[in-house]
Amino acid sequence: MTVAAPPTTKIPQYINGQWMDSQASDWQDVLNPATGEILGRVPLPDAAEVARAIDAASAAYPEWRRTPAEDRIQPLFKLKMLLEEHLDDFGRIITQENGKTLAEAKAEMRRAIENVEVACGIPMMMQGYNLEDVARGIDEIMIRQPLGVVAAITPFNFPGMIPFWFLPYAIACGNTLIVKPSERVPLTMKLAFELLEKTGIPKGVVNLVNGGKVAVDTLLDHPAVRAISFVGSTPVAKYIYARAGANGKRAQCQGGAKNYVIVLPDADMQMATQIISDSAFGCAGQRCLAVSVAVTVGDAQKTFRDSITEAAANLRVGNGLDEGVQMGPVITRQSKDRVQSLIGVGAKDGAKVVIDGRNPKIAKYESGNFVKPTVLDGVPASSELTHTEIFGPVLSLVHANDLDEAMNFLAASPFGNQASLFTSSGSAARRFRYEAPAGNVGINIGVAAPMAYFPFSGWKDSFFGIMHGQGRDAVEFYTEKKVVVERWAKEHSRKF
Ligand code: NAD
Repeated sequence: MTVAAPPTTKIPQYINGQWMDSQASDWQDVLNPATGEILGRVPLPDAAEVARAIDAASAAYPEWRRTPAEDRIQPLFKLKMLLEEHLDDFGRIITQENGKTLAEAKAEMRRAIENVEVACGIPMMMQGYNLEDVARGIDEIMIRQPLGVVAAITPFNFPGMIPFWFLPYAIACGNTLIVKPSERVPLTMKLAFELLEKTGIPKGVVNLVNGGKVAVDTLLDHPAVRAISFVGSTPVAKYIYARAGANGKRAQCQGGAKNYVIVLPDADMQMATQIISDSAFGCAGQRCLAVSVAVTVGDAQKTFRDSITEAAANLRVGNGLDEGVQMGPVITRQSKDRVQSLIGVGAKDGAKVVIDGRNPKIAKYESGNFVKPTVLDGVPASSELTHTEIFGPVLSLVHANDLDEAMNFLAASPFGNQASLFTSSGSAARRFRYEAPAGNVGINIGVAAPMAYFPFSGWKDSFFGIMHGQGRDAVEFYTEKKVVVERWAKEHSRKF
């Protein structure tokens, strides 16, 4: 059984098929957000250390690229089995370093595994196309080829799933990869790479570099890195997209969110309440697809406000490893302070704090970063909160007289990660699907997370780029198209 690292453990880097101690002079504590205990120390290395990983990936690329697709996916089949075997270990580690509940942690790893399964289809998915006789005797074919060295930079909120939106596709397509996980949750990828090592994947094909901004900037500036996959907050996504672009790299940058759900009066209110409560407060509101604002239409205003308030008040908050706990802490003390201060902003701007989750007392976990579910009613459109991603267990309620007015709230949002509608009307649902200005749309769904064989979409300030993570988009992103136009004169064939 693998357990989280003891307090003094320095988290190593995995470069060129070897675990190595970082030579970094800066280190950061990795803290359990529920208990405050130190789980390990993560290095914040300098550019030279990161460049070693890039050099290793560059050296491994020519041979890996020549490895047949069918052989490149064999380590992924092994990895799938190992991830399944270690699901409980992942669950515990994710809960310890991120704070989400054990059930949420294991569910995220299921999504990671699903991406490995889909990437095993690369021999089919990576195929190009062709046409004979584009002119007499001339044939044309399109071939997809890997890019070379690529890098993935990932956030704290899904330490297991998000690196797997990229890793299996990048390497199955024939690229070599550097993963730079969030410095706040480095232990999950440490276990994932221990398992990758057991698959027999050639050295240098996958590399794990822990670090912060210097590590990211090195990946962005190094000429050998061809593509950057990023998931995180919008300001950093914009920065990475711009800097990668300026350096001639392709980039896919998924950013922050502020997700709206519209509740129509004809919705099944019991179902809507349960699903929206899970979306808003699950993972302590730290999902990029968490519903953050519920727009109630007509009579739904009172019924939904009453039912969601009751649901929020009844959620059991605590250490995600404890039996029966439904919601864990937020990631850091700073995050708790920020979320609580934003609740204050909402109240100051005129919202009613119907359920106030600030500064709760959680028995046995006084040092944890807990904020309980909070419901703000009537956040005015002029409030700073309206367009601010809170990233905590806070649901704002606003009211609209009809669907037109409700849709205007969505249209005004700078974000477009997810939009949901709860209704029993097919025509309202169809209109919503057609008009919703977001990349992931849910109809009677609270967390519209695309399966691995669909792109994890996102629009507006929630995504910068063209190709998203997962599925066919990932194959497009990690390959370059080559078109060959071919003519062979008849007389050549007559010789044989
Ligand atoms: P973050 O932007 O702080 O960090 C993400 C990554 O960027 C980390 O690896 C971090 O080390 C690096 N980083 C941070 N600041 C940097 C800087 N100035 N320069 C270079 N690199 C930097 O995000 P987070 O707090 O870890 O994650 C939460 C955010 O991620 C939320 O905004 C959430 O909505 C978003 N998110 C989006 C999606 C999506 O699919 N759109 C999915 C998950 C999370």
